[in-house]
Amino acid sequence: MPHKSRHKSKTYGCPHCGSTEGFAEANLMEATAYVSTFDGHGQPNYAGESDIDWDSQRLDPSKEKPYQCEACVKSFSKPSLVTGRQRKKAA
Ligand SMILES: [Zn+2]
Repeated sequence: MPHKSRHKSKTYGCPHCGSTEGFAEANLMEATAYVSTFDGHGQPNYAGESDIDWDSQRLDPSKEKPYQCEACVKSFSKPSLVTGRQRKKAA
């Protein structure tokens, strides 16, 4: 097999450390909390359960840097293109 035309696929990763997997994204979701009763001040006594509307899950637009890298624990706004080999760098 020829090694000539090795296809370079684009890989995006952490702009800080170059890690290409393991991130968290800040999301917003609609949720419904169950209230069992209201107390003497009209405040809800929560039943302790909530239903999450998973279809409403979306990127939190209020976060300037919604992504967090698990490797270096830094936040960033957008992943950057990680070119070439993946370097395993010990800082
Ligand atoms: Zn990182």
